[in-house]
Amino acid sequence: MADFLAWSYSRLKMFLNCPGQLWHTSVVPKGHPDRVEYVETDAMRAGKEIDNALTKRISLKTPLPAKYAKHEALCQMIIDHPGHKITQAEFALDQSLRSCGYRDWNTAWVRVIFDLVILDGPRGWIWDWKNGKISIDAKQLKLFAAVGFHQFPSLEVIDTSYVWLSHDHISPEVYYRRELPELWGEFIPDVERMQVSFRTQHWPKTPQNKTPDGVSVCKWCEVNKAGKCPVAAVAYGGR
Ligand code: SF4
Repeated sequence: MADFLAWSYSRLKMFLNCPGQLWHTSVVPKGHPDRVEYVETDAMRAGKEIDNALTKRISLKTPLPAKYAKHEALCQMIIDHPGHKITQAEFALDQSLRSCGYRDWNTAWVRVIFDLVILDGPRGWIWDWKNGKISIDAKQLKLFAAVGFHQFPSLEVIDTSYVWLSHDHISPEVYYRRELPELWGEFIPDVERMQVSFRTQHWPKTPQNKTPDGVSVCKWCEVNKAGKCPVAAVAYGGR
């Protein structure tokens, strides 16, 4: 068993919002009474469905279902773009930032899923489909670029972007290989704090209504929903 806690952007974000929430949902072993399992929402299901349709269109040339026909122009533009395309790609790095298998459970230290990668000489594109309202979290794009530079050593420049499918809008951020130390510097101190929590098994619950960037934490927390958090700041907001 690994002596560290593997992380993804969403796992790190959950830790920063509330270590106790991460403990219940990802650290406590499955089957333990304190474990709270991830529940897929209707919005998540809808997001997966459109991701799958775009992936099949771009990688397998499968026509889009009629309800997604408005995305045909986007798919065709991607298909016509020069370069090698990869869709729904799972990548992981070990603690030495070497590429490893996504499911190498004792080795993978950080994991990402790229919805679309285009590799064209020293330039690459990493895009993330978004199905909801526009809310830009540029930090995740920094992690995409950081992992992308290790995964694809030929790349010198990576154009990352969220693609807001309901709004015909993209929000690009461009990163250069020379920026790698700063990119990792955005994550390492927080990841190290998470590892200290893991080593000491200290996962405090930190009740809060909204984070400084406006995220409602306790209101939509699965631990709150399951009735396992006596210190929640507000009642669970769903059903
Ligand atoms: S309800 Fe709030 S304090 Fe409790 S685990 Fe969830 S996020 Fe943390």
